[in-house]
Amino acid sequence: MTFTEPQATQLALLLLGRGSDPRSERGVDCPGDLPSASDPDLVERARAAKAALGDRLFVLGHHYQRDEVIQFADVTGDSFKLARDAAARPEADYIVFCGVHFMAESADILTSPRQQVILPDLAAGCSMADMATGQQLLDAWDVLTDVGVADVTVPITYMNSSAAIKGFTGAHGGAVCTSSNAERALRWAFGPGGPSGKVLFLPDQHLGRNTAVLDLELSLDDCVLFDPHQPGGGLTPQQLRDAKVILWRGHCSVHGRFTADNVDEVRARIPGVNVLVHPECRHDVVLAADYVGSTEYIIKTLDAAPAGSVWAVGTELNLVRRLADRHPDKQVVFLEKTVCYCSTMNRIDLPHLVRSLESLVRGEVVNQITVEDTVAANARIALDRMLALPQTA
Ligand code: SF4
Repeated sequence: MTFTEPQATQLALLLLGRGSDPRSERGVDCPGDLPSASDPDLVERARAAKAALGDRLFVLGHHYQRDEVIQFADVTGDSFKLARDAAARPEADYIVFCGVHFMAESADILTSPRQQVILPDLAAGCSMADMATGQQLLDAWDVLTDVGVADVTVPITYMNSSAAIKGFTGAHGGAVCTSSNAERALRWAFGPGGPSGKVLFLPDQHLGRNTAVLDLELSLDDCVLFDPHQPGGGLTPQQLRDAKVILWRGHCSVHGRFTADNVDEVRARIPGVNVLVHPECRHDVVLAADYVGSTEYIIKTLDAAPAGSVWAVGTELNLVRRLADRHPDKQVVFLEKTVCYCSTMNRIDLPHLVRSLESLVRGEVVNQITVEDTVAANARIALDRMLALPQTA
């Protein structure tokens, strides 16, 4: 494959181990020897370790993972599907989660205390999830309390958030949502009579705005943007009182890079192209696209598309490349040439996976993810509320 210059630069930074490193922020080490990426036996070593562990091991692979990792996944899916898959395998002692940190936390919350969840590289965080910390949310809630609106505000947090955020949400009457059920979660939060109260939606402003405006038919003026780095969120008390949806100032560093110009450009370049994007994209991009939906929706849409159809897809590059390979009878292109892989997701590579598996064969658990009991119990409440959402919006 040919890399564009930004992709090549990012790839080089990854290979050199440079760029932002959430691992140092989390104050954790990665014990054990990391095999060399040039070791020609890596694939065989992963196979042998996996065979030795048998049913005691369950490997989960997120759709955005590298090919070299995804080939060893027992199941693939989006973050919520994988967490549920993990919960459905109580016989597995070890859940190796090839994804990012918040996903492994969710798996730990939904699995039994006996099971151990492992993230092959603790530096695999999510920039969006990192845009909302537990302390920032506590401070924001104090602002809403001072303004007198906390009592009528329901927090809804996207699956892509830390366990601390999910725990706060569960303890304050709110629910988790995914990109598949955000509309149902918002309707549930507002209640049967429509939006009399408010929703605090975090951490992805774009998913919140797209859902509020396109699915609930609220206006852009009904939504305000709360900046956790500004006093009072950068909003006046009146703006907070008037808003129906308070959006957290967070976004995905991958999907947030697509622009409406990208859509115009691909339409000019490929006549008849269908533009299909993820709702983490900016509102103007979603408005310009033909189809919008979750990762699973994107996969199903392309599976069902007629032979000969042409698609420009605005989501993570690893997934788009695999979808293009899977549908040789259709033309599937990436929406924008300079948007890169999810760099944190790509930290899970074959050397890290091999180290995790071989450590488990030796009886050593490296990089286990555990969520503190009280946080996990409250987060579970928020997750259970999502599972109980009505099936029709
Ligand atoms: S693609 Fe975006 S939301 Fe998903 S893990 Fe990467 S940064 Fe986070």
